[in-house]
Amino acid sequence: TYVVTDNCIRCKYMDCVEVCPVDCFYEGENMLVIHPDECIDCGVCEPECPAEAIKPDTDSGLESWVKLNGDYAKSW
Ligand code: SF4
Repeated sequence: TYVVTDNCIRCKYMDCVEVCPVDCFYEGENMLVIHPDECIDCGVCEPECPAEAIKPDTDSGLESWVKLNGDYAKSW
């Protein structure tokens, strides 16, 4: 699963949303988030993000972002 992190906050690019094959991006309070149960881990979105905000959830130190992505995505 990939997660959206702080560089996305108030970002106006939506390139990631357009390339995601399963439409698993959702709008959080001031950023986009990825639904952890819907993401198929294809990795297509990561290089498309001009802000480099999208990272694999296996990267270290991302626990709070993993939680935030899940909380926002599931509140839809
Ligand atoms: Fe969508 Fe693939 Fe990115 Fe997951 S890794 S959010 S499925 S584009």
